[in-house]
Amino acid sequence: MRTERGMLIVLSGPSGSGKGTLVKSLLSRRDDTVLSVSMTTRSPRPGEEEGVHYFFRSREEAEEMIARGALLEYAEYNGHYYGTPEQPILHWLEQGKNVLLEIEVQGAEQVMDRRPDLISIFIAPPSIEELEGRLRGRGTETEEAVAGRLKAARQELSRAFRYDYVVLNDEVETAVNRVQAILDAERMRYPRMKNLILEVMEDAETDRH
Ligand code: ADP
Ligand code: 5GP
Repeated sequence: MRTERGMLIVLSGPSGSGKGTLVKSLLSRRDDTVLSVSMTTRSPRPGEEEGVHYFFRSREEAEEMIARGALLEYAEYNGHYYGTPEQPILHWLEQGKNVLLEIEVQGAEQVMDRRPDLISIFIAPPSIEELEGRLRGRGTETEEAVAGRLKAARQELSRAFRYDYVVLNDEVETAVNRVQAILDAERMRYPRMKNLILEVMEDAETDRH
């Protein structure tokens, strides 16, 4: 069988809604799927590695990448640039791998506008109180940053209508299964199955001769 192009998928939603957690679990279950590594100007958190969690860059380097058109999308979030390098994504899709983007909502909307083939999934928290609890529980944010992220969350929730799907992250296992169901169904859309149909038809032709 011919290699089908991979699917481009964005998981977005408020900080603390569980995007990172769901992506990690998804990647451990699917070897047909890779995660796009973003560029950021924020400093690494303890344990974060260059080229694994992010490409950590200076503001000047980020602005140079933007000017060169090397990013599929970028946004300023909490005073830092975050952006998605385009070239690796094109490579993986061509290789037949699904590519996951785990990005905030302004960036996700830019990708929706540029890539009509994008599958967009909004990860929703069960409530703002639960979101606040998760952000504090993660222990990566100062009080000020938690407040900033909660304020942003209200604005971000109001953009959920632009997405193809909304996945409620109440319980991790259930939420990952919901994302899996979306990917499995999307894979069976006609444009992605067209080559299979053509091959079956070709076989039928050969058998007759
Ligand atoms: P994001 O990547 O969207 O900012 P994270 O994946 O870092 O969010 O999740 C924020 C925090 O909430 C983490 O400490 C994570 O362990 C926790 N968390 C994620 N999903 C759930 C869930 N369904 N139930 C309880 N805690 C969760
Ligand atoms: P954090 O600083 O917690 O790693 O990320 C902050 C926010 O930026 C998260 O919502 C994360 O999903 C988002 N983000 C990470 N990489 C990118 C990117 O390349 N582009 C955009 N637009 N957002 C990103």
